[in-house]
Amino acid sequence: MTSITLINPADESVIQTVEHSTIERVDDAVARAVDAQRRWAALAPLERASALRRFASAVDGDLENLARLEVANSGHPIGQARWEAGHVRDVLTYYSAAPERMLGSQIPVAGGLDVTFLEPLGVVGIIVPWNFPMTIAAWGFAPALAAGNAVLLKPAEWTPLTALRLGELAIVAGLPEGLFTVLPGRGDVVGERFVTHPLVRKIVFTGSTVTGKKVMAGCADQVKAVTLELGGKSANVVFADSDLEKAAATAPYAVFENAGQDCCARSRILVERSVLDRFLELLEPAVAGVRVGSPTEDSTEMGPLVSAAHLAKVRSYVPDDSQVAFRGTAPDGAGFWFPPTVLLPGSRTDRVVTEEIFGPVVSILAFDDEADAIALANDSIYGLSGSIWTRDIGRAIRVSRAIESGNLSVNSHSSVRYSTPFGGFKQSGLGRELGPDAAAAFTETKNVFISSD
Ligand code: NAD
Repeated sequence: MTSITLINPADESVIQTVEHSTIERVDDAVARAVDAQRRWAALAPLERASALRRFASAVDGDLENLARLEVANSGHPIGQARWEAGHVRDVLTYYSAAPERMLGSQIPVAGGLDVTFLEPLGVVGIIVPWNFPMTIAAWGFAPALAAGNAVLLKPAEWTPLTALRLGELAIVAGLPEGLFTVLPGRGDVVGERFVTHPLVRKIVFTGSTVTGKKVMAGCADQVKAVTLELGGKSANVVFADSDLEKAAATAPYAVFENAGQDCCARSRILVERSVLDRFLELLEPAVAGVRVGSPTEDSTEMGPLVSAAHLAKVRSYVPDDSQVAFRGTAPDGAGFWFPPTVLLPGSRTDRVVTEEIFGPVVSILAFDDEADAIALANDSIYGLSGSIWTRDIGRAIRVSRAIESGNLSVNSHSSVRYSTPFGGFKQSGLGRELGPDAAAAFTETKNVFISSD
């Protein structure tokens, strides 16, 4: 397959065909990136900062276009897609401050001066999934560029359009030719070549745990740095003493946003047994109230799934004899639609409880006490996100310290913030993105001793 025909997930119309990059094209882009990186790293920090600010401003000027590309290509509701494009701008703006703040240290030693430098790695390969094509790309490329690296970005096969546009905007903003190259194509061709090419010095991979393990094994061969952002099966833990109305009203948005195609989706709701019936009573109208429909409408809260293949996968988790508590609505006709679905599984080991479905399907389980809630929340190979609902501050602290997860929120379902670190425990990943330290993750620390003799 040398190209892919992109399909609008909301109506199944053909959008356009995108050529896949070959290995030769990747190798050529690496060679140009090596050259561009040397020139980029030699610029004054303020010049690199200014270039990133111009990139942010080019994204801002193209915000509506980027958002509409994402609506057509990925089926994201327009309001959400506008937020995503704005988030890319904000991530670039945040890391545009980094070039002038790549601080090393001065360490007291005898006989001279000892200083450390944060040296760029060189060329960084970023491989992203299809669920949030532009935001996840920006979490990698903005801090990587800020730290003085060149970047090659491989979008997912199904969703390359916003990444390609961001590549054009980088040029419009005056970033050096070859510094940031977007290479659409297959994972087992372009992605694998990033991993095997000796001049690509770090891989930032976001995607499934299965592929992440392969990428990590490939990186081991060259002792190549790797960051992994993988799957999740996060818990939304609701204690009896919580604001139950608020917990129920917000729970659908913590799992059905982006049609559940969110690594942070709270796809297990764990409810203290004494309030389970009341919680379900409150949850049912909240689920029915999720506005599922055309992603081009401002009022839409949930669009279609990304593709026919993904719809088939999600459907396979909800066969006819499933224990469905209730469902929301979804349009009929063309498009890859699946309604918000609430399950009451018979057992804690059911595959809907343990596997990442990556669709608008949530499982509800009852727990008996705090210890049971923690054990149930941690009974997963994953540990990415989660929420805790309680009015007891001591319990909030105890449970958030006990849950093995990288990103928790208490009495809210906070989404990702670019100014705070993000990443997973256990098989949800390795390393952290975003936050104040992300640019440093794209450097090697060099120690230099200067003798005072
Ligand atoms: P995927 O693993 O199938 O693909 C991810 C990317 O890897 C794609 O660009 C793909 O082309 C590429 N790829 C495939 N095979 C490869 C190989 N052998 N070598 C190198 N690259 C290869 O995942 P997906 O289905 O696109 O995305 C969904 C998954 O992503 C879910 O599991 C989700 O939880 C995860 N995800 C995680 C985060 C996070 O931050 N933790 C964020 C979003 C999505």
